[in-house]
Amino acid sequence: MNKNAIIIGAGIVGLATARALAIRGYKVTVFERNERAVGASIRNFGMVWPIGQATGPMYERAMLSRGIWKTICTEANIWHNEVGSLHLAYHDDELQVISEYVEVNKQYRDCALLTPGEAISKSPAINTDGLKGALWSGEEMILESREAIGQVAKYLANKYGVEFHWNTAISSIQHPAVWSGAQSWQADEIFVCSGADFETLYPGLFAQADITKCKLQMMRLVTQPDEWRIGPSLCGGLSMIHYPGFQAAASLPALRKRYEEQYATHLNWGIHVMVSQNGNGELTIGDSHEYGLVHDPFDKAFINNLITGYLHTFANFKDWSLLQSWHGIYPKMTNGATELVVDVEPGVTVINGLGGNGMTLSLGLCEQVIAKRKD
Ligand SMILES: Cc1cc2nc3c(=O)[nH]c(=O)nc-3n(C[C@H](O)[C@H](O)[C@H](O)COP(=O)(O)OP(=O)(O)OC[C@H]3O[C@@H](n4cnc5c(N)ncnc54)[C@H](O)[C@@H]3O)c2cc1C
Repeated sequence: MNKNAIIIGAGIVGLATARALAIRGYKVTVFERNERAVGASIRNFGMVWPIGQATGPMYERAMLSRGIWKTICTEANIWHNEVGSLHLAYHDDELQVISEYVEVNKQYRDCALLTPGEAISKSPAINTDGLKGALWSGEEMILESREAIGQVAKYLANKYGVEFHWNTAISSIQHPAVWSGAQSWQADEIFVCSGADFETLYPGLFAQADITKCKLQMMRLVTQPDEWRIGPSLCGGLSMIHYPGFQAAASLPALRKRYEEQYATHLNWGIHVMVSQNGNGELTIGDSHEYGLVHDPFDKAFINNLITGYLHTFANFKDWSLLQSWHGIYPKMTNGATELVVDVEPGVTVINGLGGNGMTLSLGLCEQVIAKRKD
């Protein structure tokens, strides 16, 4: 008889776990406390972002994820755009970092160093003043996560018979049972994918774990007129010191040193700036990073101003009108680990702590975790 599994949380980590089990014949039931997922997984840029990952196992995991996303999006008719990305250089030290990045990575990745003219031919949104060159990467893909996450749940229900219990908060777990108040369900295996609310179900585990929470401020600009498109997602130099993928560049410490002097306030609030465009032509921009177990619920206008101010240094849009602003919170490991996968008791596994990479890595991570145990 087929085994069954219960998953708690319908964010991308819960969905990725559901997929990895369902394709192996498990009968999967997902419990989500809200009527739909409204956590980090729908608040992000929707960037599937291999360029941010260091060459080696994490990059391979990102590319595995990307392939799974591509299959799901194609089969479920989910909007996605394989636009690639451009990191723009306006100073010699930024150009040096991207040149070194390309030198180290060109044999492994679809990347290239572009002249200003070549970069401008890829995106009409680039600020050309003082542009010295750009790093092109062809592997980045954009999703509209606020739609895609619900669509993936529907796809798993339709294709694999995954059952979803919405509006059902799990209040305790005692393998083989999970409880929501007085009601209970049983399964051979239970997976806890509860995202930033990691302390409710296993407070002891998380009190001891090297994990914190990160708050990010984001904005969305209105649909650009005349169906104007920016092409690839765009990033400024601050993103080069944010993502581990760039640590392969020998000159990165020197660039970081300049930014520490020139952009001390940005760095203090964890600001690096990226922009992507969705299918409606709206622009998603961000972000900042504040760390701590409790976060101020009120967003800071000056952070949004720092983000848009920096964005003006490398991008020009047709319409800068603000449509929305919001924040999201994700769990983040503080010990350098890229995730937390723990068997908390026999039959119960916690999968959490993917930080700012959940859209990029979850499908690959959960495929690897489940394959290792089941195949
Ligand atoms: C602003 C922002 C931008 C980001 N940009 C990117 C990006 O561009 N690319 C990228 O790769 N990553 C990005 N990330 C990171 C990515 O969004 C996260 O890593 C990922 O969404 C985490 O997924 P999750 O399933 O762990 O958490 P969540 O999406 O928060 O899902 C957890 C779910 O569990 C449910 N839950 C919790 N407790 C219970 C319970 N007791 N019972 C039932 N349900 C429960 C919650 O309601 C929630 O729906 C970004 C994150 C943020 C916040």
